[in-house]
Amino acid sequence: MDKFLIKQPRSSSGPFVSSHVVPEAQRETITPSSSNVDCILGVGSLKRDPGGRKPIFEYDSNIRDVVRRHYILMGPYQPKLRVYPKTIFGTSNRQFNPEWFNAPNSAWLEYSIDDDAIFCLCCYLFKNEFESHGNARKSFTQDGFKTWNHGPERIRLHVGEVNSIHNKCLNRMLDFANQRQSIQSSLHKQSEKTKSDYRIRLNASIDVVRFLLRNGLPFRGHDESEDSNYKGLFLNF
Ligand SMILES: [Zn+2]
Repeated sequence: MDKFLIKQPRSSSGPFVSSHVVPEAQRETITPSSSNVDCILGVGSLKRDPGGRKPIFEYDSNIRDVVRRHYILMGPYQPKLRVYPKTIFGTSNRQFNPEWFNAPNSAWLEYSIDDDAIFCLCCYLFKNEFESHGNARKSFTQDGFKTWNHGPERIRLHVGEVNSIHNKCLNRMLDFANQRQSIQSSLHKQSEKTKSDYRIRLNASIDVVRFLLRNGLPFRGHDESEDSNYKGLFLNF
């Protein structure tokens, strides 16, 4: 199994980054897609900061899902800085507010240190499935958003109604994450069953040994070959 599971190194010495899509424990051990990404695109080719990412539609359609899984496993980029850059709007200074990372935006809202702007992870990953990229609006995906004096209002507008493009993308992203979890869960169940079967066989063998010893009976038969009708007491139990 280990050959299929490549340990993902912790993010480098950058700021603290939280994730809300995949639990930390899973991101540490379940990263087969990362090895695929490294093989196909070169180690470290996928940018963590959303500001400098290559648009998803520019990746070959054969590896697009690999790239998506990689970003979903990493979770939204949510650096917690002590101070965010200030921008003047009229007479006041405004900045990104890290409270915007909280629910209900926690699964998708990203902040780019490079661009001092916010982005949407799910729209970055899946918007091309719902809009042709020629028509797609780039705010929150390629261009980011940084008009901080209208932050909460524009975030609400981006999310939109139940059937909005954003919510469709969010559902697609959560489906992707759930697929991964269900595969892991079935692997876990399988290994639990193997362990349980082994325990049953082991306990049965111990019971037979105790019975034979207690009654002074021989373990072996005269002929323990496959064709033998009587292989001795231990093997015949
Ligand atoms: Zn979005």
